[in-house]
Amino acid sequence: MGGLYADIIVDISHEKLDKPFQYRVPEGLSERLETGMCVTVPFGNGNKLVKGYVIGLGNVCKFDPGRMKDIRGIVKSGVDIEDKMITLAGWIRKNYGSTMIQALKTVLPAKKSVKKLEHRTLQRLLGREEILSLLGESRRRKQVAKERLLKELAENETIPYEWVTGRLGVSAQTIKSLESAGVVRVVSTSSLRNPVGFREVQEQPIKLSSAQQGIVREVLEDFDAGNPDVYLLHGITGSGKTEVYIQLVEEMADRGRQSIVLIPEIALTYQTLLRFYARFGSRVSVMNSTLSSGEKYDQCERAKNGEIDVIIGPRSALFTPFPKIGMIIIDEEHEGSYKSEASPKYHARETALEIARLHGASVLLGSATPSLEAYYRAETGEYKLFTLKERLTGGSLPRVSIVDLRQELREGNRSIFSEKLKELLADRISRGQQSMLFLNRRGYAGFVSCRSCGHVMKCPHCDVSLSEHGNGGRGKSMLICHYCGYSEESPAVCPHCGSRYINGFRAGTQQVEEKLKEMFPGVRTLRMDADTTRTKDSYERILSAFSNKEADVLIGTQMIVKGHDFPNVTLVGVLAADLSLNAGDYRAGEKTFQLLTQAVGRAGRGELPGEALIQTYQPEHYAVVCAAEQNYEKFYNEEIIYREMVGYPPVSHMLAVQIFSRSEESGRRLAEKLSASVRSVYGITAGGRGEEGSGQIPELQLIGPGAASIGKINDIFRFVFYLKCTGYDKLVRIKDMLEEEMQGGQASGDMVQFDFDPVNTL
Ligand code: ADP
Ligand code: ZN
Ligand code: ZN
Repeated sequence: MGGLYADIIVDISHEKLDKPFQYRVPEGLSERLETGMCVTVPFGNGNKLVKGYVIGLGNVCKFDPGRMKDIRGIVKSGVDIEDKMITLAGWIRKNYGSTMIQALKTVLPAKKSVKKLEHRTLQRLLGREEILSLLGESRRRKQVAKERLLKELAENETIPYEWVTGRLGVSAQTIKSLESAGVVRVVSTSSLRNPVGFREVQEQPIKLSSAQQGIVREVLEDFDAGNPDVYLLHGITGSGKTEVYIQLVEEMADRGRQSIVLIPEIALTYQTLLRFYARFGSRVSVMNSTLSSGEKYDQCERAKNGEIDVIIGPRSALFTPFPKIGMIIIDEEHEGSYKSEASPKYHARETALEIARLHGASVLLGSATPSLEAYYRAETGEYKLFTLKERLTGGSLPRVSIVDLRQELREGNRSIFSEKLKELLADRISRGQQSMLFLNRRGYAGFVSCRSCGHVMKCPHCDVSLSEHGNGGRGKSMLICHYCGYSEESPAVCPHCGSRYINGFRAGTQQVEEKLKEMFPGVRTLRMDADTTRTKDSYERILSAFSNKEADVLIGTQMIVKGHDFPNVTLVGVLAADLSLNAGDYRAGEKTFQLLTQAVGRAGRGELPGEALIQTYQPEHYAVVCAAEQNYEKFYNEEIIYREMVGYPPVSHMLAVQIFSRSEESGRRLAEKLSASVRSVYGITAGGRGEEGSGQIPELQLIGPGAASIGKINDIFRFVFYLKCTGYDKLVRIKDMLEEEMQGGQASGDMVQFDFDPVNTL
């Protein structure tokens, strides 16, 4: 009784992670010892001194106290790679909430595969000349996928199989046909050191513009002076950001430092990677979800051994065990995929900052439409801001117009296609040019709006759209706020203009496709949404079919606005900007601006000028107006006022406490119990705000609890409540308190997760 005991992992060979050993914490250490620290402990029969990591502390002795050994000392942490990873795991655990084991599993390299690594490659069997003549033939026959593959084969004798099916978008069937024609052979090799190191040309670096040079110079000056900093590079697509990244990585390599370049998986295109390969050859490596765990392990070993200077990959590439990182670059930093959806729900941006702190590295964030977080921090001087204004790729920005769907209704057009959109589609189809129709549905969008005046039903407390629930044809449906649980009956007429045309907004890609075929008989369409992209390579297949001009119109959700370039697309139609504008969370405006800006930018990437059309019931909404003008600063200035007024991030911080349970009753009880204890400990009154002068946290606000926007998934009931507060550390303290409260038993099958500054509403 009374003593302090520590659970310690002695060997970070990952299979053993789940078997900690308990040690006694001697008197002199108990004040200083924290979870995540590295310690020395006697181990085994010989009591050999080894290093171990503290993953938990407690007062309960789980073994025979007489045989329990003492921790010998605390090791100064952060010295070698492994220590840094453990320190990082401890930081993640503390700031995002999870167990130490979960945090360790997040940061430590993938498990070593016991099986022999196997890797398939395509080997060409013909000479270059023969390949070139085949290439000409497939070009004439417009077999575009085959053409892409043959082009690569002309330059490379072997290509990784996954690369061909994944990034080149060539089907297994096409490969088979080339195999039976004796053009290629598929070979299984064991342990290919570098999964994509097939092209090693040292290209002459591009001469940077003076604006680009200025950025590189400033970042390096700070770094060389021993003051590595955080920078935000705001520049439209094609303004030369990637070239700046490449230059910085190279400069870091010259200084003996490694770099991590994060790119959203979906934007990890062949073209981007090739540019890095051209410059860094076998000193670059790529991490992506198609790699096997064996390959990932192999990558980590190469990183540790100093065999590579730079790794490119999605969020998880952040945890590459480099000895001395100089630079972390996050491209398209506004992307939602940088936030982990699983516990620990860490954000790559903040985690990158912590890694940079541990290594003394610089951080560069890049985006055409920066997140409110990043831009706010640049405005407040926390980050340095760089702007690249000029587009280097040529091609003019598309002409953008906004169509007022309320006006269409007044003129008797009740369809989702405005007259203008119909006209433009007919024109493009007749010219043989391609169009994209974009339904920017985001998650669950059950909002109710007036088609006559554009009025949207919103929560009076949270200023987000209400969601319609429980209609099913019978009786009155209800409108519910997913932050605070406020509810009201769905109105029969618009409270603003009295129109009967107020109802839930329903439009799916499938209906759009049907309607399109009805309007233009014989039109060739492709559809990309959650339904058509179930299988692994369907995404690439649809995109490559579209770029092969196998369709006139591509209809899809936000999946279609990222990554690929389609030079033949001259028309982009956003069917209803409202779909993302009223998604029911505080980021709806930001997401809409980003999606619309990206969508609009899809038109006119080639020689032909492009045009974009945004249809909406809220044509005066600043997210719509600013996207049409492609004016980021104007959007930011409007949006930040809204965030300030209602106290949402980045001005304030928000913690979502998410409760999952097999039983509705027990989940609700737990949600109520946890929120009640925050209320009582912090003196929050019924109004939601912490009481002034109560000596607690005055600016703390509690919202909820309520059922999550999707109340049940796979028979697991979901509840949530939110805390808003200007101080992040205060939210961390509340998280710690709730975690502690959860330790004292509750019904098994109940689970609590924390989400700081949530990106997606539960
Ligand atoms: P972003 O990453 O902002 O989209 P990129 O770095 O890809 O922009 O640059 C867009 C295009 O301009 C690329 O084709 C790139 O090779 C070219 N480019 C970039 N910087 C220069 C430069 N200084 N001189 C000439 N071409 C450049
Ligand atoms: Zn109305
Ligand atoms: Zn509300």
